[in-house]
Amino acid sequence: VTALDADWAVRWVRCAAADVRTHRDELTELDRLIGDGDHGVNLDRGFTAVVARLDGPDGTRLATVGQVLQLVATTLMSTVGGAAGPLYGTAFLHASRVTDRPVLDAAGVLALVEAAGEGIASRGHAVPGNKTMVDAWHAAVEAAGPVVTAGDALAVLRAAADGAAAGALATIPMTATKGRASYLGERSAGTQDPGACSTALVLAAAVEAAQA
Ligand code: ADP
Ligand code: MG
Ligand code: MG
Repeated sequence: VTALDADWAVRWVRCAAADVRTHRDELTELDRLIGDGDHGVNLDRGFTAVVARLDGPDGTRLATVGQVLQLVATTLMSTVGGAAGPLYGTAFLHASRVTDRPVLDAAGVLALVEAAGEGIASRGHAVPGNKTMVDAWHAAVEAAGPVVTAGDALAVLRAAADGAAAGALATIPMTATKGRASYLGERSAGTQDPGACSTALVLAAAVEAAQA
């Protein structure tokens, strides 16, 4: 079984960057329907910058998961504008604070996902049901929590990713009450929230990286 260590975290970020690139136009299209049509482009810019930093001198000194996530946080905050940059930046920053160790166990994975979700919710003043990325993070935490007692870190990660995917789909019928999509009122219903969709993608990449 692959250890969820700093090398995994680096693979996670690289997978996430590749998947964001692959799905950039779909994310942007979702945001075109209920926002301003830039979410995929925003995230692609940010993760491309993260990969560039990993490929540079900063990428050679990463010994803990937290150090990798902190690099992601600072890079996303400085390169992604709009709502998603500070939100994802805060998610990774808060996650980095609870993962400053060489390897994550099952409880460590849950702590990562919890801290990320709490970071976004506090930064965006959003709660589940507002039709934002919080819905995906919250569903990830809810799904991952019960799996921790079995003690398998990868199983917790898988549960989180599956929860996020379900949480993202659950935003479709919702009416947005936070962020740009809330300007549309009830016309925001019927479309998946772009940030919830990208959250599912990013957490799926974490599983992909653990299986590589
Ligand atoms: P912008 O809306 O500034 O163009 P993006 O398009 O990159 O930024 O990101 C939009 C996503 O950000 C939304 O789909 C939603 O998931 C998330 N979002 C927006 N506002 C909030 C908020 N207050 N709290 C949590 N998430 C939010
Ligand atoms: Mg947008
Ligand atoms: Mg924008």
